[in-house]
Amino acid sequence: HAKQAGRGRFSLYTAAMGERADQRLRLETELRAAIREGQLYLDYQPKMRYPERELVGVEALVRWRHPNGTLIEPADFIPIAEETGLVTAIDEWVLREACHQVGAWFEAGLAAVPVAVNMSLARADVDRLVRNIERALTDARLPASLLEVEFTESQMLGQNVRSRQLVDRIRAMGVRLSVDDFGTGYSSLSYLADFRFDTIKIDRAFVHGLPDENEARAVIQAILGIAQSLECDVVAEGVETEAQADALSDLGCRQMQGYLFSRPLSAEVIERELGRRDAGVAASVVSAAS
Ligand code: C2E
Ligand code: MG
Ligand code: MG
Ligand code: MG
Repeated sequence: HAKQAGRGRFSLYTAAMGERADQRLRLETELRAAIREGQLYLDYQPKMRYPERELVGVEALVRWRHPNGTLIEPADFIPIAEETGLVTAIDEWVLREACHQVGAWFEAGLAAVPVAVNMSLARADVDRLVRNIERALTDARLPASLLEVEFTESQMLGQNVRSRQLVDRIRAMGVRLSVDDFGTGYSSLSYLADFRFDTIKIDRAFVHGLPDENEARAVIQAILGIAQSLECDVVAEGVETEAQADALSDLGCRQMQGYLFSRPLSAEVIERELGRRDAGVAASVVSAAS
């Protein structure tokens, strides 16, 4: 009797599992095709200095335009790509595309905006990653100082020895390094001193708690304090309101990213903005001279 009930549950369970496995397999197959057939593209989200609201950089964020017309966000395919190892191919494509785009802007004399790319450490092979970065920079004729690589705090933690080698070799190339989603990974602060990142990106969960939550404020304050003594930049992520931006500014945080300033934008829109900004600078130089 009990055995029968047990068997019934078991078969239901396996049916559900089977369906999920099917879905994943389909997604994996489609994702493979997406990389091959050019269905991926990048948006770029501005990073600003506050309160000046000057553009200090952009972050490349991958998107998938599925042939059925839907737009798929990275949260819905990067985790599966990490499990299947496809993330390596995605990250390589993103790196090349971002370097190529920013290299083109740089060569056109538009502006020297640094670009940040996100890289998964789930499947990372240190030698291959370093080689790919070198090649992407060379092919795009992009100075290393205009590239920044973001690793999440939680992935860095899981891979201590490899992370260490990776960080050292990337820095040796002159590429900037930043630790993403900081504050959620439960790492000790000594790890920050040890790895010497150029930038710490405060996770938006803390920014969300501003201006009212004392806990969020305390964490942000602690991060800003250690960053200052390590001479490392801090960027607050997910800034959505003036009140959050002002609270961050009062705490001494000067770089921010978030919907308050801009959503991620297409390359075309960024390019137009850069052109306008250059025209603005040129115009003010002209009027000052006359
Ligand atoms: P992330 O690197 O922390 O990127 C920031 C995410 O926050 C982006 O979501 C961005 O659109 C979103 N965001 C920006 N400002 C705001 C705001 O004011 N409010 C809110 N609520 N959200 C904001 P997106 O583009 O969906 O990317 C999600 C994550 O996917 C990224 O988080 C990153 O971890 C990962 N990802 C994106 N592109 C790549 C890639 O090329 N390779 C890898 N491995 N991961 C990527
Ligand atoms: Mg999103
Ligand atoms: Mg990021
Ligand atoms: Mg983040």
